[in-house]
Amino acid sequence: LLDIQGVHKHFGTFEVLKGVDLAVAECELVFIIGPSGSGKSTLLRCCNRLEEPSDGRIFVNGDEITARGADLNALRRRIGMVFQAFNLYPHLTALGNVTLALRKVVGKSRAEADEIALQALDRVGLKDKAENYPSQLSGGQQQRVAIARALALEPRIMLFDEPTSALDPELVGDVLAVMKDMKDAGMTMLVVSHEMRFARQAADRVVFMDEGRIVEQGNPEEVFANPKSERARAFMSQVH
Ligand code: ATP
Ligand code: MG
Repeated sequence: LLDIQGVHKHFGTFEVLKGVDLAVAECELVFIIGPSGSGKSTLLRCCNRLEEPSDGRIFVNGDEITARGADLNALRRRIGMVFQAFNLYPHLTALGNVTLALRKVVGKSRAEADEIALQALDRVGLKDKAENYPSQLSGGQQQRVAIARALALEPRIMLFDEPTSALDPELVGDVLAVMKDMKDAGMTMLVVSHEMRFARQAADRVVFMDEGRIVEQGNPEEVFANPKSERARAFMSQVH
């Protein structure tokens, strides 16, 4: 469903991605780990054109999203993204945050947008918080609103960049539970995270990145218990 082919990314003379190939199948959850600065966020950001790859191509369902003239609005509806910082609008309620893109980008009426948004909030367990403002929600609840906002656009793929790393430990579980539900419902997901236990429970494949390259990959048990490369071994010994 998502096919990343030979992607390079330079910032000036600095090469952050040095030729990444990665194919994610429908309903697959691919988990990306690797040291700070290895290019994980940059790779995700290339997948919805928040960054322009310097070279290489990315396809979603056979359509090249890196093509010149690709429709970025349409693209970002098909590829949802959730960041470490929730980026909710503080002056809008949970419902308002979820309906915004539905109304402005998709062009839904208020009634339609409200109905879709309430369904999305229900999926993340927050239907009863629809009228709360972000400041009246916990960090975990805010992140679940951010997930609902992405889900409401009915994406084909969801990208997550360290969705739980800004949360207090006791709030992490609720967000991971929502992600597990999405996986079980058949969502295709690419997740950058340090939650190794979640990877063991939910990931189909773990990809280890280092210095702009995929160094190794395999099923979670394989990669965690038996890393082949020296770099991956060193990394695993630090994160457990
Ligand atoms: P972390 O685990 O810390 O989030 P990461 O693997 O997500 O790291 P990236 O954020 O992709 O790493 O960054 C990879 C490298 O690219 C870093 O050295 C970073 O400083 C550099 N970089 C990222 N964005 C830019 C930018 N806009 N301009 C210049 N350099 C950048
Ligand atoms: Mg990052």
